[in-house]
Amino acid sequence: MKILSVNAGSSSFKFQAYEMPEAKVLISGNFERIGEEGSFYSFKINGEKIKKEADLKSHEDAFNILMEELIENKVVEDLNEIKGVGHRVVQGGTKYDKSVIIDESVIKDIEEYSVLAPLHNPAGIMGIRASQEVIPNAINVAVFDTAFHQTISPENYIYPLPYELMEKYKIRKYGYHGTSHKYVSEKMNEILGRTDTKLITCHLGSGASISAIKNGKCINTSMGLTPNSGLMMGTRCGDIDATIVTYMINSLGMTAEEVDKMMNKQSGLLGVSGKSNDARDIEAGVVEGDERCILAHNMFVRKVINHIAMYYMELGGCDAIVFTAGIGERSVPIREDILEHLSVLGVKYSKEKNQIQSEIGCVTTEDSSIPVYVIPTDEEFMIAKDTYDLAI
Ligand code: ADP
Repeated sequence: MKILSVNAGSSSFKFQAYEMPEAKVLISGNFERIGEEGSFYSFKINGEKIKKEADLKSHEDAFNILMEELIENKVVEDLNEIKGVGHRVVQGGTKYDKSVIIDESVIKDIEEYSVLAPLHNPAGIMGIRASQEVIPNAINVAVFDTAFHQTISPENYIYPLPYELMEKYKIRKYGYHGTSHKYVSEKMNEILGRTDTKLITCHLGSGASISAIKNGKCINTSMGLTPNSGLMMGTRCGDIDATIVTYMINSLGMTAEEVDKMMNKQSGLLGVSGKSNDARDIEAGVVEGDERCILAHNMFVRKVINHIAMYYMELGGCDAIVFTAGIGERSVPIREDILEHLSVLGVKYSKEKNQIQSEIGCVTTEDSSIPVYVIPTDEEFMIAKDTYDLAI
């Protein structure tokens, strides 16, 4: 059965077509700059990369072109072969603790939750509408970033604000990257050969979050109401003293929008280093002895360590730690520094084993108190799997 996995952003969308249940990737790619000048798309098929320019006015334009390419490249002979389209939806509120087949009431809910994810949920809906329009015979499935975190208990999801804010306005922790944390934790359990485990999963990409997972269920995660909490990230500040916001508004005369933009787009690695939001540039700066890059690197590592320590206590121990996403899968120096700090827990790593990039592997030694693994995440596969399960 052919399944399409879609991750729509406001001006882009990534796709991957699978033959399921084998999980064979048939084609993958992305459309960029939708609705802007210079729009284009690129895809990979049979190991070959192809890039084309196209006038993409809407997500529907992109979807139509994708269908043409699927036929032209013989991924399908007939569009009816695509039985399901899985959509990444960032915010599913408290209602959705698992993936669901999309109908109008689900779309209405996704629209309603847009206040909590104003950049992401409307883009998800554009992807869903485009799919409904272009391949009406396929089922559409919503796979929520927040679903895996719905097992978190009130002690961890309620903020110490007046209780009514949670009741009336749903101001609480939701958590994000759930599909990724679920995927790597399931892989880790497969490696350990059991499911009664205590895991700490570190998704370190341009957005970054850490989760504590006990017996396959998430008990805490570092992102909150929005994806700007917990760790320091590429351009996001993560946890800061909340009163800094009112201070910037009242004493520095900034508007709420300016503060929001600063905290989301001009902070994190970029804000501290003054150089870049990309960990590769920060590491190059560290090698050159750039003080602000060294500071940004050290701060990033410190926040990761703090969360690992916190979750170690909360889980009452830990059977394995997992690194994933861009930085977690590929940054040897950041991982090494984190592993150094973990020695206080009896973690022993191997410099040689820690050289791996973008592949599954253990980076600790046999006598390490906790094994630490690199497991490349695969959210697209998770989306396709849930869609297939609901389509059969
Ligand atoms: P996103 O969160 O946007 O999905 P990724 O998980 O792909 O992103 O992570 C992207 C980030 O990973 C980049 O911004 C960069 O900071 C980091 N990254 C990618 N490759 C490397 C590398 N070789 N070394 C260090 N950092 C890397």
